[in-house]
Amino acid sequence: MESDASTTSRALATEAVHAGREDLAGLGLHAVPIDLSTTYPSYDSRQEAARIDEFAATGARPQGPPVYARLDNPTTARFETALARLEGAASAVGFASGMAALSAVLLARASQGLRHVVAVRPLYGCSDHLLSAGLLGTEVTWTDPAGVADAIRPETGLVMVETPANPTLAEIDIRALAHSCGSVPLLVDSTFATPVLQRPLEHGARIVLHSATKYLGGHGDVLAGVVACDEEFARVLRQLRFATGGVLHPLSGYLLLRGLSTLPVRMRAAAGTAAELSRRLAADSRVAAVHYPKLGGAMVAFEVHGDPHRVIAGVRLITPAVSLGSVDTLIQHPASISHRIVAEGDRRSAGVSEQLLRMSVGLEDVDDLWADLDGALRGRSARPDRTAVHAEGRTAGPAPDGSARVPSPAVR
Ligand code: PLP
Repeated sequence: MESDASTTSRALATEAVHAGREDLAGLGLHAVPIDLSTTYPSYDSRQEAARIDEFAATGARPQGPPVYARLDNPTTARFETALARLEGAASAVGFASGMAALSAVLLARASQGLRHVVAVRPLYGCSDHLLSAGLLGTEVTWTDPAGVADAIRPETGLVMVETPANPTLAEIDIRALAHSCGSVPLLVDSTFATPVLQRPLEHGARIVLHSATKYLGGHGDVLAGVVACDEEFARVLRQLRFATGGVLHPLSGYLLLRGLSTLPVRMRAAAGTAAELSRRLAADSRVAAVHYPKLGGAMVAFEVHGDPHRVIAGVRLITPAVSLGSVDTLIQHPASISHRIVAEGDRRSAGVSEQLLRMSVGLEDVDDLWADLDGALRGRSARPDRTAVHAEGRTAGPAPDGSARVPSPAVR
């Protein structure tokens, strides 16, 4: 959705709670309404035909009811407006997941005959895989930031980076890189930074991508992606989203908008704790290296001297799980999980060693987190009551051997 330029001078904390909601008081509402309609009635088929023609020709958001939910939705549009405002973008387009968002960008460029992508490792494992395997008919050249200008060809449609990168937290100078890209659009996956810490468009990037599943949602209960860009590219993305169907669900749009309200506060609180944990880890003899971005943020990566799998098995307060950006702290072993799909050699050369652990710091007390990490680094044994039960509610049921399975309140 296009953002309203007249309100771009407000501070980020103000936009986080007001953008996309300015009309609510006039509607007599305080909370954002959720529109779950999949279709919208109209007694005027000629007018509907004209609106469909207009969308097919331009990709502009339809005025009035969206005709059909794959075309647009008022609740998700509010989230798009808010995110565009936070990123300082003209527009934003929401998708069903971060990977759906990246797929749409790649398809958009490929559909314009620009199938070649220049990318810098590391990227999130599935993004790396999508490019390396050429699943969408694209071709990738991997290089480092200094090699980007030389890697660009006439058919290059995109330069893609993550900064800070998943999982090593390596940082890239966006302005310098944007300069090397010339007229080729630079896409920055800014999932780890969020607009609270970094606004890539202000430094010359043309496209910002988020796995909104992470900090934007912020509570581990929404899968979503979003692209912030100019309105011209947004129109292509909307047409692609309509044709391919990777839409953001309205309930997710609602939860994302709610998540944005607290994003600045959550990021600042978690980043303070992450910075302190990174200092304590750096001073610890059991830890070989700590990676914490100069930019700040709530992610910490560290390499241990001992067995990283024992650390994962030993946490009790911290949740051993992939993903990031939730209110609670998560830890995972990238070589086993988030980057497993990347070929081992490529993983290693991108700095994803077997000793590396990636931690997403949440909102818990720093001393409680440190006590848990300390215990896990000591190699404390895995909880004896840990049971692999995934069903919601974990109701007792017969085990494969026929005996009763007792649900454990300690399983998390
Ligand atoms: N980009 C980054 C940096 C990620 O960490 C992830 C997922 O972990 C993605 C993109 C993909 O997002 P999603 O899981 O929402 O599809």
